Amino acid sequence: MSPFVFTGFPYRVVFGAGSLDKLGEEMTRLGAKRALILSTPEQRSDAAAIAATLGDRCAGVFDQAVMHVPIEIARAARTLATNLKADCAVTIGGGSTTGLGKAIALESSLPIIAIPTTYAGSEVTPIWGITEGGLKKTGKDARVLPKVVIYDPLLTMSLPAKLSATSGINAIAHAVEGLYAQDANPIMSMIAEEGIRAMAKGLPLVVENPTNAEARANCLYGAWLCGSALASVGMALHHKLCHTLGGTWNLPHAETHTIVLPHACAYSAAAAPLAMQRIARALEASSAPRGLFDLAQSLGASVALKDLGIKEFDLDRAADLATQAPYWNPRPIERNAIRKLLDDAYFGRRPD
Ligand code: NAD
Repeated sequence: MSPFVFTGFPYRVVFGAGSLDKLGEEMTRLGAKRALILSTPEQRSDAAAIAATLGDRCAGVFDQAVMHVPIEIARAARTLATNLKADCAVTIGGGSTTGLGKAIALESSLPIIAIPTTYAGSEVTPIWGITEGGLKKTGKDARVLPKVVIYDPLLTMSLPAKLSATSGINAIAHAVEGLYAQDANPIMSMIAEEGIRAMAKGLPLVVENPTNAEARANCLYGAWLCGSALASVGMALHHKLCHTLGGTWNLPHAETHTIVLPHACAYSAAAAPLAMQRIARALEASSAPRGLFDLAQSLGASVALKDLGIKEFDLDRAADLATQAPYWNPRPIERNAIRKLLDDAYFGRRPD
């Protein structure tokens, strides 16, 4: 076995249908008495329900979380947390809401209890992102890692089938890149493979029936495992492409991941054969890139970038941007090959 480094992260997970009921107990364990509840405007009622349950242990609700954490929103939430003398933040929502909690913690070290309702995986990573002047800055900082994650599959029942599919493949993307990361290690690879397996098993059942509790639990479990891979090992070409397309053309996060992933995987397939074997095995497919493409298509997700609004003439610029300051990747980054990858993703061609 080759030498490796493994970093374990100090967070606590409470998993299971109805585990939201444990929020008060978890606050007590942290010694917290005044929670600021965070949500998007769309999930205001979820935040209000938590506030009602906590009673006078709720210091206030801030329901303005939006995608990519604009600095103005982060500042407003930070100020409110200070003014209310909150001693913890409770985030209820997807990666955007968790991200807002992280933006507060980055300055104040306020402990976060994260209650994820999508499969983005941000709740178990020390990665933060804040957008200022149209540019998204990201970084890693142990202060932003939530102290507790409450995974309650019942809260994901309302996630529409279409968003469940793309959010789930966003999670799978973390595990796929974790398997061929430069700093991959056997523990994370085991977790990543199991994450892909759980997600690939759960997603078709969720799309068929979004209130299938067992399938929802499988997907949320898979999201945790896949998020753990993102937390522990490096990102590669796929995440670089998605950050470029999302940042410059404002393409929707989970949908972009879903379309790009089979092509990024095909790009690196010959350079990462063991990772490909594990991905294919988890998907029960004969090829990792085709298995990912077929999963997305079978879930009814879009498989073509042209459906997201980007124009064909933008692809040259996207190839230029994605090949500047590239992340490490098992196959070296070649501009013309990346342009071809983008063409395949644009037209939604099934990988060879
Ligand atoms: P999101 O948080 O933006 O949520 C999308 C929409 O779905 C929102 O309107 C939200 O309120 C709604 N929603 C969420 N859960 C719902 C539910 N159960 N029922 C009904 N509606 C629900 O989407 P996302 O894909 O979870 O997060 C994307 C963001 O997370 C991006 O900004 C991305 O960069 C970030 N992210 C960060 C990390 C990290 O480690 N830092 C990891 C993954 C994603």
